[in-house]
Formats: sequence, structure tokens, C-alpha cells
Amino acid sequence: MKDTPKHQGLRNQLATVLEKKRIHDKDVLAAIKKIPRHLFMDSSFEDHAYQDKAFPIAADQTISQPYTVAFQSQTLAVKPGDKVLEIGTGSGYQTAVLLELKAEVYTIERQHELFKKTSLFLPKIGYKPKKFIFGDGYRGYEEKAPYDKIIVTAGAPFVPKALMSQLKVGGMLLIPVGDKTQVMTQFIRKSLKEFEKHELGNFAFVPMLKKRN
Ligand code: SAH
Repeated sequence: MKDTPKHQGLRNQLATVLEKKRIHDKDVLAAIKKIPRHLFMDSSFEDHAYQDKAFPIAADQTISQPYTVAFQSQTLAVKPGDKVLEIGTGSGYQTAVLLELKAEVYTIERQHELFKKTSLFLPKIGYKPKKFIFGDGYRGYEEKAPYDKIIVTAGAPFVPKALMSQLKVGGMLLIPVGDKTQVMTQFIRKSLKEFEKHELGNFAFVPMLKKRN
């Protein structure tokens, strides 16, 4: 698989579509223009890679819709060097965006097939998180806590306590909460005990899994 001027053209168009949907962060748009999203999908779906749509990947999961990835990335307001915990590695596309924003990324995947596939693939195309973790996102990753930012890319039935407690004071947790559809929910940690909560609209994610498959 390769990246061609045709793909570049399609990426530029996708960035324009996202701008119309109020993605204005220059660094996020630059990342969308740069990352070869078609390489994150099975080649039979290549034609769909630059439409603003979610798509099936391995293990019954999806690569999130570009708008959703861009919205979460923009909301997260990543600064270079931010320590970011990502729950739901999936295809690794959101991970690549975080790395383009110069975050130090720890990313957790619950399904071994995806963990294996993506931890081999991402470094091959030049994206190297600090660590790929095969584990349970409900528990976060205590070893490297606290984090500046925590991003959840699967629909959570509730807000896991571990994720709240692994956030730095001043840090942000961005998590879609709900069963069938989710409300994108932002928590800012104001102090050890206080969190500010904002609801940022409705989204649709695959569910955050309880059991390892
Ligand atoms: N950011 C990914 C989104 C993939 S969909 C992308 O753009 O490709 C959500 C992912 O979360 C799936 O890969 C799913 O297997 C994973 N997941 C679900 N429950 C999880 C859990 N409890 N812990 C970690 N990852 C989980």
C-alpha cells in the first residue's frame, strides 16, 4: 500500500469538510492532511478512507469518523509534551493524530487482535507512542499516572473512577458517556477533589467492552 498525490488531494478535501463543521485548530487540520488514513483500513475500503464516516476495522470495531477524531483532538487542546492516556487504540488513527500534536501517548486496547496489529503497524509508518498497552481501559494505566489529558474513544456506560483519579490537577478527561448514543463529556480537574463538567453534544461510538475477547 502506498500514499499518492490522489490520496493527498482527498485529504485536503476532507480537511475542508471538517473546517465547515467548525474544526478550526490549525494543528489538528494539519494532522488530518498529513496522516494517510487509507493505510489504517483494509484495502477493500480504501475508496471510503477520506469520507467523513466511521468504518469497520478488525474484531468488529470501527475506525472513528474523522469529524469525531478531529473534534476530540481539538477539544483536548494538546500541548507539545502533554502526557496523554488514550483508551481504545483501535486502528491507531486517533493515536497518530495525538502524536502529530506532539503528545507523549500511552494507548490501551482491550482486544488482543487489534493490539497486536496496530502495535506493529503504527511504528512502521513512523508513529511511536511511549507505550502500547494490552489491558482494560476501565482501570486506566496507573504506572504512568497522572496524565495531562485522558481521551476515551469507546462509549462508556459510566465514568470509570480510575480515569478521574489518574488525571493531573488542571488536566482534562474527555469521554463519551452513554449506552446507545453518547454525550461527549469533558471533565477538568480543578483540585484533588473538584471536577468541572461540560457536556459537548451527542456522538455514536462502539461500546467500551467489559470482557476481554
Ligand atoms: N481510536 C480508535 C477507535 C476505535 S473504536 C480509531 O480511531 O480507530 C474503540 C476501540 O476501543 C476498539 O478498538 C475497542 O476494542 C476498544 N475498547 C473497547 N473497550 C475497551 C476497554 N475496556 N479498554 C480498552 N479498549 C477498549
